[in-house]
Amino acid sequence: MELILNEAAAKEELSGIRRFTAFVKQTPGAIGFTMGEPDLDTKEEIKAAVMTALDANETHYPPGNGSPFTLEAISAFEAEKFGLHYSPDEIILTMGSTEGLFITLATVLNPGDEVIIPTPAFSLYESITRLFRGVPVYLPTEGSGFQVDPEALKRAITPRTKALVLNSPNNPSGVVYTKETMDAIHDVLKDKPIFVLCDDVYRALVYKGQFHSFAEYQDMRDRVVVAQSFSKSYAMTGWRLGYVLADAPLRDKMQVFHQYCVTSAPSVLQRACVQALKTDVTYVRELFQKRRDYVYGRLTAMGWDVTKPEGAFYMFIPTGRYDNDSLRFCRRLVTEAGVGFVPGVYFATEGYMRMSYCYSDGELKEGLDRLENWVNAQR
Ligand code: PLP
Repeated sequence: MELILNEAAAKEELSGIRRFTAFVKQTPGAIGFTMGEPDLDTKEEIKAAVMTALDANETHYPPGNGSPFTLEAISAFEAEKFGLHYSPDEIILTMGSTEGLFITLATVLNPGDEVIIPTPAFSLYESITRLFRGVPVYLPTEGSGFQVDPEALKRAITPRTKALVLNSPNNPSGVVYTKETMDAIHDVLKDKPIFVLCDDVYRALVYKGQFHSFAEYQDMRDRVVVAQSFSKSYAMTGWRLGYVLADAPLRDKMQVFHQYCVTSAPSVLQRACVQALKTDVTYVRELFQKRRDYVYGRLTAMGWDVTKPEGAFYMFIPTGRYDNDSLRFCRRLVTEAGVGFVPGVYFATEGYMRMSYCYSDGELKEGLDRLENWVNAQR
């Protein structure tokens, strides 16, 4: 008997980052710099908020989009800190930004719709697009310093274009889109029925320049969604919490996917979200900035021609001096040098590898020493 599955799901592979991480872990003695998660623990006061919720028996189904106190806290936080004005009924508390990105694309895509994804890019966008029978359209940014080039964007747009994904600070390039880039994208899109999905999850980790969300262009409010996360800047990756900001009519439809998939984010975690928003994350930014400077200094001293990242916690390192085939090269580094980086091909960009620097100073030093020995041995 032949069992026929959903075609899109049957074809889709699991995350390349996770597969490569498993390969590094299976290699005896190898150290990996493959995961994008802070090595910090969640702050005590955030954990304590969950205890309070349990003691108060907040263990029942919460309202689907989030408890009113959570949505009000998010709404006030976004307005005060980032000047983004979204009322509580324009927010959904999601299970990580992953769910936020999923329900957004689920809500806007029809089969055959095209989603423009500037590359290099986190692979989630293309996978979700394909799962909903959409078509990922890559927009390479290598030639424009990893900023989106408005002329290239214009050329990528077709009558089937349904959405553009913007991820700034960017995983994996670490680039922060400038105001000029954002203004130029706005000029291209302002009169078009194209949704913009802003993945702003690294917004708190900007070391140079100024962060701008595309959501600042309120004339396009009906077509813009912001996906946010508690994972990165609050060291809460395992909590699986995030939220989306979207104009009320769109949010109401996104709620359909959210409700039928998860019902709501967990009740007992909602006070932790409120507490997290009160946390000053300057210490996280300063820590990663220090590590970025260290890693950048070491890599350039070894002769790697790397662009200094302005945000997030990744280095996107060109591999062309040895091998343009990033998977083959990264495998070689794991087996010969005992050090693991993610092949650029998993970000739809060959000839690069991604190093995550959210690891301890000791691990970074050890990994970079190994890389340096390997580089010296090639001479
Ligand atoms: N967006 C980007 C750019 C990411 O790098 C990640 C995780 O690595 C996510 C979204 C998903 O994060 P989460 O679901 O933990 O919020």
